[in-house]
Amino acid sequence: MRIEKLVIPTPFPVGPINTYLIVDDPLTLVDTGPKTDAAMEAFTTQINQLGFRITDIQRIVLTHTHEDHCGLASWLQQQCGASVYVHEWEQENLTEHGRSRADRVLLKSAGVPEEQLEQMVGHYAKVKSFADAVEKVVAYRDEHEFVFASGSWRVVHTPGHTPGSSCLLREATRTLLAGDTILKHITPNPVLNPDPRNAARRFPALKNYLASLERLRTLAPTLIHTSHGDVVTDFEEYLARLLRHTYERQSNVLNLIPHTGITAHELANLLFPKVKDITRFLAVSEAVAHLDLAAAEEKLRVEHRDGVDVFFR
Ligand SMILES: [Zn+2]
Repeated sequence: MRIEKLVIPTPFPVGPINTYLIVDDPLTLVDTGPKTDAAMEAFTTQINQLGFRITDIQRIVLTHTHEDHCGLASWLQQQCGASVYVHEWEQENLTEHGRSRADRVLLKSAGVPEEQLEQMVGHYAKVKSFADAVEKVVAYRDEHEFVFASGSWRVVHTPGHTPGSSCLLREATRTLLAGDTILKHITPNPVLNPDPRNAARRFPALKNYLASLERLRTLAPTLIHTSHGDVVTDFEEYLARLLRHTYERQSNVLNLIPHTGITAHELANLLFPKVKDITRFLAVSEAVAHLDLAAAEEKLRVEHRDGVDVFFR
C-alpha cells in the first residue's frame, strides 16, 4: 500500500507538519496542515505533483485535533466531500472548535497568576484561528479498522500528547502512522487538557503517555511515520532514550521541590526560565504532567489551596 508524504508549512515553533496520503481505495488523507494561505498552496501543489486533485480525496483521518493537524479539514471537506474521522474524545474540538486547551480553571489550578493566565488564553484564541469547525465528523474508537481495497489500518488509541491522540497501524508491514505520539528529534509534549471523562479534572497526560508507549512496544512497529521530522526505524532504542529522558526529568523535578511546596507554574519557571508566549503554556503543561505523575506514584502529595494545587515531597 503506497504512502505519500506531503510536507506542509505551519506558523508554529514545531516547524512543518508531515501529512500522509494513503494511496489506495478509498484515497485517504491522514492529517491536513493548518489553515493558512501558505499551507493551502503547499497542499494543493504537492497533491497535484502526486497526480491527484483535492477532489479525489475520499476520506480524512485525524490523529488528533491540534491546529496543524486539523486546520485544513473543513477547507478540504468543502471541496472533496469526504468525512473527517477523529477519536471520540476529540470530536467536539472539531465540531465546535471551541474547547480551549488553555482552560482557565486548569491553568488556575496549575498556579498561573491571573495576568499571565489571560495572556495564555489570548495566545490560544489566536492559535484556534488556524482551524475552522468541521461539519461531517465521524468519531472512531480504539481498534477501529479503516478498510482499504488492499488491506486495513487499525486505530491504536495512544492518549498522552492529547487525550484522543491515536496512531494507525498496518499490521501486515508493522508500519505506524504516529501523529505526534512519536517524534524523531523532540519529546512530544504532554499538553494540559481537561479529562474527557470529567472536564472538571485535568487529564493525567504523562501517566497515559507512558502506558501508550508500552502498548506500542508490544506492537513492535518497524517503520514509524511521524508528523514532524524523520521516520523512526529503531523504536526500541528510541523508547529507551525517551524513557531515560523522562525519568531524568522526573528526578530533576523531585529535587527542585522545596519543603514549602511548589505549584506547576513555579516549577515551570525553574525548569524553563526563558520561554515565552505559547511555549509558556507548554512549559506549564510539562510541569503539570510531571507533578501529576509523581503524585500518582505517591512520590508527592497534593494540597488544594483556593483552587490551586500545591505539591509537597
Ligand atoms: Zn499535536
